[in-house]
Amino acid sequence: MPRVAFDQERCKGCGLCVAVCPVKIISISQHINWQGYRPAGVEDQEKCTACTMCGRVCPDTVIEVYK
Ligand code: SF4
Ligand code: SF4
Repeated sequence: MPRVAFDQERCKGCGLCVAVCPVKIISISQHINWQGYRPAGVEDQEKCTACTMCGRVCPDTVIEVYK
């Protein structure tokens, strides 16, 4: 089953993955990570198509996509 995993402590909250997701399931969290950023995450995992766009756009290799 398609799935994405965010290593949220390494996220800088740039929002590139939010913008690129074709099914719009990525959002910026309300909590702050140890670096002081609001990290991106996914709520509706079941809607992920494992297109890998988010993983490819992330400059900090925060996102792992599983097919
Ligand atoms: S793999 Fe594709 S569908 Fe899944 S969260 Fe990333 S951009 Fe969205
Ligand atoms: S592209 Fe990477 S660093 Fe930027 S918000 Fe998404 S997961 Fe975080």
